[in-house]
Amino acid sequence: MKVTSHILDFEGGREGLSEPLSVYLHVPFCRSKCPYCSFASSVPRSGDVALYLSALESELAGLTRLSGGSLPARTLYIGGGTPTVLSVEEWTRLMDLLDRYIDRGSIEEFSVEANPESLSDGHLRFWRDRGISRISIGVQSLDDDELRWLGRLHDSNEARRAVIASVASGFDVSGDLMFGLKGQTLRKWHRSLKALAELGVGHMSLYQLTLDNDSFWGKKPPEGVFDGYSHYRWAQWYLPRIGFDQYEIASFALEGHWSLHNLAYWNRDNVVGLGPGAWGYLNGLRYENDPSLAGYRDSVRSSGFAVVYSERIGGVAEASESAILALRTKWGIDLDGFCRRFGSGLKARLLKCLSEIPDNCLEWRKGSVALTRKGMRVANSIWERLLWEE
Ligand code: SF4
Repeated sequence: MKVTSHILDFEGGREGLSEPLSVYLHVPFCRSKCPYCSFASSVPRSGDVALYLSALESELAGLTRLSGGSLPARTLYIGGGTPTVLSVEEWTRLMDLLDRYIDRGSIEEFSVEANPESLSDGHLRFWRDRGISRISIGVQSLDDDELRWLGRLHDSNEARRAVIASVASGFDVSGDLMFGLKGQTLRKWHRSLKALAELGVGHMSLYQLTLDNDSFWGKKPPEGVFDGYSHYRWAQWYLPRIGFDQYEIASFALEGHWSLHNLAYWNRDNVVGLGPGAWGYLNGLRYENDPSLAGYRDSVRSSGFAVVYSERIGGVAEASESAILALRTKWGIDLDGFCRRFGSGLKARLLKCLSEIPDNCLEWRKGSVALTRKGMRVANSIWERLLWEE
């Protein structure tokens, strides 16, 4: 009963499927499970990839039945998991499926995620031929001790090779780096930032190591994890000096290299989530697909959908979420737009909450307000003030 009601909720969002939107496709496989990871991913057993691809076809068929035609994508993002666990042959099948059900006539960005140990020259050639424009590489660190401690399968040489080959193949390349790692001095952190920039990436995403309860380390925390406030602050100081503008709390980019797909999340644009464990957002409805491969397959085979959770975000909660997501970015909140969307009462409430935040955390501009660098460093305490439930 519960699943049925989620499907009905989801079907209510169908009108959002006919305009160009963002599409996220989750590939739920990795070569091994990192101890800090709680994403929906597992090491594939024999037959799992074929099962996944055939279930994905059922989901795409269900969605296009609902929308009455192919899904018009503005941005497409294939993430995971580790999409490079799929061989080029499996990628061919995946892309053939997408071409059958997704209309790329209005596409502005097509990204894939890759991990250094499984990214091959064959992937790069195939992606170039099939119109992929951007690769986000899970570098995490360019220090071998840190990579070993994280349980990653690649070393710094493999990470360098993956970035260099991707840049040389003409892709717009982003690299992820993590801070708060055991033994990671500021000097080591600086070396990773500098080296990654010198390899030719146009974008970096920086993350504090966090231990979700569902991860192995969440249950059995290792020694040496620390709050990386000073590392983050260093990146905020250093990266703009070499041309990387901080356009979002965790994102730094050279001019013109923003992630359009991620901007869709922060702008609360429609995002269709495909695959096990994928999240989507359609006209105010946030939903999640079944994270287990078997559950996902059974659901899409019987109904064309695998939605196991959905919630409608409206009223005060929507205003609160919209303010927080806008403040994540350097553009901040457009105050007139906020007022038009949510009314003068909620705008007054927003201004009152913001007035309680220290001056050095906010930058007031004509018609908008954004976080300063200091504000981005203490964003979690700011969100606490802006999380309204009623
Ligand atoms: S490679 Fe990424 S998705 Fe896979 S287990 Fe490690 S952190 Fe999780």
